[in-house]
Amino acid sequence: MKLTLLPGDGIGPEITQATAQALQALAQRFALGLDLEWHEIGLAALERSGSTLPPGVEAAVRASEGVVLGPISTAIYPPREKGGINVSAALRISLDLYANLRPSRTREALPHYGRTEMDLVIVRENTEGFYSDRNMASGPGELMPVPGVALSLRKVTAEGSRRIVRAACELALRRRRKVTAVHKANVLKLTDGLFLEEARRVAREYEVEYEEQLVDSMAALLVRQADRYDVIVTTNMFGDILSDEAAELCGSLGLGGSLNAGDHHAVAQAAHGSAPDIAGQDRANPVSLLLSAGQLLEWLGRKHSAPAFGEAAAHLERQVDVLLANSDTRTGDLGGPLGTRAFTEALCLRLKEAP
Ligand code: NAD
Repeated sequence: MKLTLLPGDGIGPEITQATAQALQALAQRFALGLDLEWHEIGLAALERSGSTLPPGVEAAVRASEGVVLGPISTAIYPPREKGGINVSAALRISLDLYANLRPSRTREALPHYGRTEMDLVIVRENTEGFYSDRNMASGPGELMPVPGVALSLRKVTAEGSRRIVRAACELALRRRRKVTAVHKANVLKLTDGLFLEEARRVAREYEVEYEEQLVDSMAALLVRQADRYDVIVTTNMFGDILSDEAAELCGSLGLGGSLNAGDHHAVAQAAHGSAPDIAGQDRANPVSLLLSAGQLLEWLGRKHSAPAFGEAAAHLERQVDVLLANSDTRTGDLGGPLGTRAFTEALCLRLKEAP
């Protein structure tokens, strides 16, 4: 089974390398038959070929079963006409990766910053919402009619809302069967009103407990009472912000797994950015991308009815947990002594040998 690896910018190459090593260790142990194919993207590709997403990469992605995408330094990309394509946004739209699944959970012996334990998944709509650089078929969703006046469009559709809530309900059936729809319908009456109307309709089709929560109070409730929540479903930007908060509350932004999934393709991507401040220093925590790759294996296992992939994903989660439980086997962002490479070596050893 072919997987495409796109290392990205900043700490991307370091954590993608770590993830490739872990995938190889898992492939060996669980006989997954993985074939890892690397393609250059981002600033390195821009320098070499004039585009952060060179021609041919998308075809390679489409020809593979799944993708591991390192973070990219979009904040310093040149405009699109000068080759600065946001690879993450481009793949989400062209492969219709409408569901961004972002789990967060506290772990025994790892300090967390909320008042309660947490074990939840934020299901974030990934193709519309307030992302005005990508939510239009043509033309930008941001405009400046006169100097000093800037407008931004937020797109919410009935079908986009239905399919993301369906993804959340399906996930809840495999978990604790509770779905919380997060919105700001008291202000965004039309857009979030439509989102909620569709969410209620879809949730009635499933045997799940369904409730609604305003986004601003949700931010506080994640700190105060996160143990009340199982699956949180929301629109694009709310989900982006709440999932970073949830990951940090569990210990570090470097722990947040993230899978962008559609009906046919999936892209594993760290929840955090390219961390240019620590790039190339062997200081990055690779866990976020590792756990995202684990989510990809689990997704592939369900898609192909191949239980070995699910077992490999569960083994990866368990061995990451074992390392995180011990302060001597954590990376620097969690107060531990290990660099990216030493953490990866310790993990790969466990992936190969631990029961
Ligand atoms: P960031 O997530 O890259 O970094 C925020 C802070 O967290 C930094 O102090 C960083 O060192 C730390 N951090 C992040 N990941 C870490 C890890 N794995 N291990 C240890 N520490 C980690 O956010 P930013 O600084 O706001 O953005 C940097 C760049 O990343 C920008 O160009 C931005 O556009 C881009 N970005 C990309 C993505 C993506 O590729 N999906 C997402 C968000 C931001």
